[in-house]
Amino acid sequence: MTTKKSAAKTAVEAKSTDAKTSKLVVSDAGKEIDFRLDQHGEYEFGGPFGVLAIMTGFPALMYYLWICLWFYDGQLVHPNSLEEVKPFLAQMWAHICKDANPSLYAWKVYGGNVIFQLLLAMVMPGFKQEGLPVPSLGYKTLIYNCNALYCMYATMVTATVLHTTGLFRLTEIIDNFGHLMTVGMIFGISIPFGAYFFAVATGTQMRMSGNFIYDVFMGAILNPRIGPVDLKMWAEVRVPWVIVFFLSVSGGCKQYEELGYVTPNMAFMILATWLYLNACGKGEECIPQTWDMYHEKWGFMVIFWNFAGVPFSYNYSVVYMSRHDPSDYRFSTPVYVFMFGTLLTAYYIWDTANSQKSRFKMQTQGINTFRKSFPQLPGGTVKNPTFIQTAHGNRLLTSGWWAYSRKPNYVADWIMSFCWGAIIGFATPIPYFYSMFFITVLVHRVGRDFERCSAKYGKDWERYCEVVKYKFIPGVY
Ligand code: NDP
Repeated sequence: MTTKKSAAKTAVEAKSTDAKTSKLVVSDAGKEIDFRLDQHGEYEFGGPFGVLAIMTGFPALMYYLWICLWFYDGQLVHPNSLEEVKPFLAQMWAHICKDANPSLYAWKVYGGNVIFQLLLAMVMPGFKQEGLPVPSLGYKTLIYNCNALYCMYATMVTATVLHTTGLFRLTEIIDNFGHLMTVGMIFGISIPFGAYFFAVATGTQMRMSGNFIYDVFMGAILNPRIGPVDLKMWAEVRVPWVIVFFLSVSGGCKQYEELGYVTPNMAFMILATWLYLNACGKGEECIPQTWDMYHEKWGFMVIFWNFAGVPFSYNYSVVYMSRHDPSDYRFSTPVYVFMFGTLLTAYYIWDTANSQKSRFKMQTQGINTFRKSFPQLPGGTVKNPTFIQTAHGNRLLTSGWWAYSRKPNYVADWIMSFCWGAIIGFATPIPYFYSMFFITVLVHRVGRDFERCSAKYGKDWERYCEVVKYKFIPGVY
């Protein structure tokens, strides 16, 4: 069995792979494996029928949950007999037509934000980050202009001006939730088709199965770009988390207007969503090192989730609070202390775990000076890291949080998602949708990820799993 000591020993050997820069060198065998991983293998997500079910089922589920929350006090309404099915569906449809139609106003607000975010991404200065070598581009690296943080501050200033001058009241966001959600869905459904046809027309498609609907779902293009803007990274950071944060701010403004104060629960959601948005900005240079960037293509799975899924299903607690009296979800002071303490602890682990792995990966590329943006947390870089040198050429970190679990970032992220629902108590299960859905996504993602790593690293992956025994929670699982 490989011990941490012997793994540390391989670190010395690894440094000699490229004496000048200590850069990652992919072996010929590694290149062969990368080539194989870039071909379409087995169908995932249940194949064409599975993905079709997801593509139709998710929008329907989002409408259902919104209707229950908006009109039925968060209760999961359903027909009680077969005879009731038709009138029930008619009732649901009536709610959608009246309160979730894609109104002109919603087009202006949602579309305006998308265009504004795209323009900001194009013009704002940013930190230039080199991505990982892309096997399908002959191991060329792409440069990412990481300006999300400046864009976030610019958006916050703009929103404050719009709100205080009365040009656009932020309370309008939560009041138009249904309409905005539908417009988000239209974006989330149409862009994947556009991206697919663009990729095919320009010959930039890769890892294709040949099944149209499956390829639209998984995506065809890996690195869609408009000038300096990497659309996949832009859409992952600038669209969903900006909306999620401003939905919380909108809920806070509404409470302030109606009650004269903001409840600690709403303040919790504003803080929690801001932390997430800010983390995406301040650690944006780490995102090119994530799986979504270097492996997942830009298809429905990613796009729908960025444009509609995340913005309109992660924040149900804010929707609940904006339609209920604070006495329905008030906690005692110790519970508030516990909730804020849990959120901040989970955030710390999540932030530093992601940073440790990304910075370790950057170091293997010869990047040793890191960007410093607010807030820099202690422990974000592992000094003298231990790792397993794989025959592929890549290295697997075995210290920091990564010494205890193979997915410390997922565990901390999930705890935060649970807090986002728990902040309104147990009056309705709907705000827990995010954490329930997220655990399913993470478990499925872990399966796909470990399968890919096992194919990529073979015996070295087994060795890594022996050194870092637990998948999620040390000592438990
Ligand atoms: P990881 O950051 O865990 O990345 C997995 C990849 O990292 C592996 O495929 C492998 O790739 C590499 N890797 C795994 N272990 C090690 C190691 N010990 N040392 C070095 N490299 C390693 O997962 P994701 O990219 O999926 O997620 C990033 C973050 O985004 C997470 O915090 C996650 O919670 C969050 N997220 C949030 C979502 C949301 O909706 N809120 C949705 C999805 C993700 P290789 O070896 O090929 O480099």
